[in-house]
This record gives sequence, structure tokens and C-alpha cells, in this order.
Amino acid sequence: MTQPAAAKAPAPARAVGSSNQHSAFKDKTKPAEIRASSITAAKAVADAVRTSLGPKGMDKMIQEPKGDVTITNDGATILQQMKLAHPAAKMLVELSKAQDAEAGDGTTSVVILAGALLDASAKLLSRGIHPTAISESFLRAGEKCSEILADMATPVDLSDRESLLKSASTSLNSKVVHQHAGTLAATSVDAVLKVIDPAKDTNVDLKDIKIMKKLGGVVEDTELIDGVLFDQKSSSFGGPTRVDKPKIGLIQFCISPPKTDMDNQVVVSDYAAMDRVLREERQYLLNIVKQIKKSGCNVLLVQKSILRDAVSDLAHHFLAKMKIMVIKDIEREDIEYVCKSLNVRPAASLDHFTADTLATAELAEEIQTGSSKMVKITGVQNRGRTVNVLLRGSNKLVLEEADRSLHDALCVIRCLVKKRALIAGGGAPEMEMTLRLSEHSHTLTGVEAYCFRAFADALEIIPYTLAENAGLNPIVTVTELRNRHAKGEKNAGINVRRGQITNILEESVVQPLLVSVSAITLAAETVCSILKIDDVINVVN
Ligand code: ADP
Ligand code: MG
Repeated sequence: MTQPAAAKAPAPARAVGSSNQHSAFKDKTKPAEIRASSITAAKAVADAVRTSLGPKGMDKMIQEPKGDVTITNDGATILQQMKLAHPAAKMLVELSKAQDAEAGDGTTSVVILAGALLDASAKLLSRGIHPTAISESFLRAGEKCSEILADMATPVDLSDRESLLKSASTSLNSKVVHQHAGTLAATSVDAVLKVIDPAKDTNVDLKDIKIMKKLGGVVEDTELIDGVLFDQKSSSFGGPTRVDKPKIGLIQFCISPPKTDMDNQVVVSDYAAMDRVLREERQYLLNIVKQIKKSGCNVLLVQKSILRDAVSDLAHHFLAKMKIMVIKDIEREDIEYVCKSLNVRPAASLDHFTADTLATAELAEEIQTGSSKMVKITGVQNRGRTVNVLLRGSNKLVLEEADRSLHDALCVIRCLVKKRALIAGGGAPEMEMTLRLSEHSHTLTGVEAYCFRAFADALEIIPYTLAENAGLNPIVTVTELRNRHAKGEKNAGINVRRGQITNILEESVVQPLLVSVSAITLAAETVCSILKIDDVINVVN
């Protein structure tokens, strides 16, 4: 059994403020003070993002020191950019990051839930309940909530495109770019369905979905590309810009004169030696280019190099003469994606560059998108399961937010691949949990019953905030919602469009079960760890 924070226990040596003799008194209040300050700091963070929740939530404008501006509604993005001093406040940022990694959506909700739970625990603490008792009960209540949610959920099949679209739209509805929800939802559903095998896959590697942002046009022009796109144009040395039946090679070495490892200088003093150096260089490069040509390659992809020119001008000239199209500056982290989509093997040295490493396709050509050029390869043989999304937007702010929103929508679909179940949105699951959890608390006794009830009441924050942000009277709305749920209408939710309580499933507001389950469990865990902190120790460097 846990001992209450005993005042009689010998006072441990403290690094901070141990100057006076009356440390017994101090020891008793300090943990409480630390806890109170953690709770206050973390709640302040939760309050900061509260107004962003839901389809009628507000957006935030984030200004960076350099003057860059970001407009967003995404909880994880807002929190990540905040400059926070208190360690407990930083825990909420981590919480939202964790939710982003686990579910991808619900990053605002999770922080708001944590804030409400902290509020509840502050009240329980003031009634003299020990923090350990609170945190243990909260963890159990979190588990109970997962069960309640699972009870509410309806299974969904990945062939049910309509449901997938609905859940992607729900997530997109609350974004700055919500007027383009239709296009982005369809894009995200198609993209995920293209890279998975619905029969056996239980996860989606989002790295297989490459999103390319191009300024110009409107978000509606966003499309799934049938082929592989490269952000670069083919290098302009008079080489081909269109190759039929290309044979594509990928090299990770450079076609430029080698450099010394250290910063050395070679002084060439006479003309004959100078000539020889130039000739050697030509010979060296020509040899590499000839060998590339010999393998049959006519489209060459070159990994970006930071040490020296990946392809020198002279090499470009030779490659152009031999009618080899060059796409250089392929980022290191993109190599895996390129290999998978083109079915090509990267060559780390010239000796490994042989005909059998090459990929074949129908066509490689340079295309014009907006104000810049890109290279598109179509008809790839044995193409891996990857897709390319070309995201368009009329300005940088919209484009960036569209990218973040598309990521959320992709994550929502990924959640459905991981756990194929949907629940209603609009505050319905939270209200249902509140009621069922308080019912459950009647079967409990003592401190635990108190804690369960407090936990249950805290969950009402989500419908309350949704109503508040939509300009409805939160108390009236939440009371009616509670009534309807008490009457057994499991799916009654806040219809923000009409400003009343309706069956939210009919409004097509659905979200993946995983998003809600992960939000509630992660929030409970974070609150527990904040409650268990009774001292902050600063390390002096
Ligand atoms: P998060 O970052 O937590 O995903 P959002 O701003 O996306 O935050 O808001 C999500 C909340 O809004 C969820 O509780 C969801 O049920 C609710 N919601 C989304 N669309 C609607 C809608 N059309 N009507 C009512 N509630 C909605
Ligand atoms: Mg969302």
C-alpha cells in the first residue's frame, strides 16, 4: 500500500532551498506546489488550443522570428511551434506528437482532454486524495473508456469507399482548407488504397505516398499521378527531354573529377602539365559516361552529393551528346522510394552499374507544371506499390496547410487500415463515455468511485468546446446532448451546421475508432505522469 506523503519521514537532502532548519514544513508543501504549478502550466497549453477544436474552430497564425507565417488549425503543428518554458507544458507538446504518430488525427482533442483531466485531478487533490490513487484510477478509467468506445464502434470494410471518404472528410472539415475537403478526401482514399493490399495489410507506410507540393493552380487541381514524378527538371545541356522506352539507372556516385580528402592544393606551373591535367579529366569522365552508355541506360538518376558536384559540366556535356537524360539531385531520403517505385537497383560504384540494375518504362518526359518543369516517368514495368500525389495551391500558406491536412486525412485512412472500425463524431463518443463511466462508478466504492466520476465528467469538455466554438450555448447544448444519450441515443451528436443535436451518423460525421481510443489512453497516461511528479530538478551545466 502506498504511504501518504509522510511528514515524519526523514527529510532528504535537497539541492534547492535547504537553507533553513524548518524543512519539515517545506517538504510537505513543496510537492503540492510543484504539482499545482505543473497542472497550471499544462492547463494553460490546453486552453491555448481549445478554440481550434472542431469544424467551426478558429485558426492560429504562427509567426516565426524570421518573419515566416504559418496559418494552421492542426493541434500538433500549433504546439510544436510554441515556445514553452515549463517542463510540464512541454509534456503536452509531446502528448500531441505521440497522438500524431499513433493516429495522425485528434491532436487537438488529446491535449484538450488532458487539460480537462488535469483540472479534475486538481479538484480531487484539493479534497485530499493522494496523487497515486488518482493516477491509478485514471488509468483504469482510461481502459474502461476504450471498452466503451469499442462497444460503440461499427466495423468497416476497406472496400466500402463511401465510409472511407466520410471519415477522411470529417477530419478535413475542421481544417483551413475545408472547402476542398472533397478533392483531398478522394485523393487520400485513393492513395492509400493503391499502396496496400486490403486483404492482408494491417498498416500503411506513408513513405510510399509521396506528396509533391507545387505552387500555382488551386487545391482542386490536386491529382494522383499515374507514374513517377521527379521534382527536378532534366538538366539542360542539350540532352533529351523526352525518351521513349527508357532504361533507367540510379547512381549514388559522382561523375566529376575526384577531390582530395583533405584541403590540398596542387600547383601546376607549366602549360604542358596543365594540358595533361585537362586531358586526364576528360578521359576520366568520358570513361564513366561510356560505361554508362554501354549498359544501355538512357535515363540517369543521380543522387545528390554534398561533397562535390554530382555531375560536372563536362560530364553533362558528354551525357547530352550520348542522348542520356539526366535527373540529378535526388535526395538521399528519396532513394528508397525511387527504388521501390521504379524497381531499379541503386549503384554505389561504376562497377556495379550493369544492365540488370536498370528499370524499364514506356516514357520519360519533361512536363510543365505551373511555373516549373518536372520529369514524369510512366508505364514502369513491375512498378512497386507507391503513389505520387501532386498537390497544388495558389499560395504558400494554403499549400502548406493543404499538405498538413492531407497528411491528417491519410492518417485517418491508415487508422482504418490498422483497426477497421468507425465511430460517430461530434461529441457523441465522449458523451457516451461520460454516461457509461458514471454508471460504472456506481458499482465502485471509495476513492476510486470519486475518481471515476471526475474522469467521466472531464470528458464532457469535448462536446462543450465543440458547442462553444460553433457559437452555440454550451451549457444548453451539452445538457440536451446528455439527455438524448441518457435516453439511449448512442449516436446523438452536435450538428454544428444546423446548431442542434441530431443523429450525427446521418450527417456523415464519422471518425476512426483508433483516433478516439488513442486520444483517451494517451491523455490519461500523460496526466498520470504529470501527477506523479513531485519535484523539478534543474541541472547546472
Ligand atoms: P483534432 O486535431 O483533435 O482532430 P479537429 O479540429 O479536427 O481536432 O476536431 C475534431 C473534432 O471535431 C472531433 O471531435 C470531431 O468529432 C468533431 N467534428 C468534426 N467534424 C464535425 C462535424 N461536421 N460536426 C460535428 N463535429 C465534428
Ligand atoms: Mg482532426
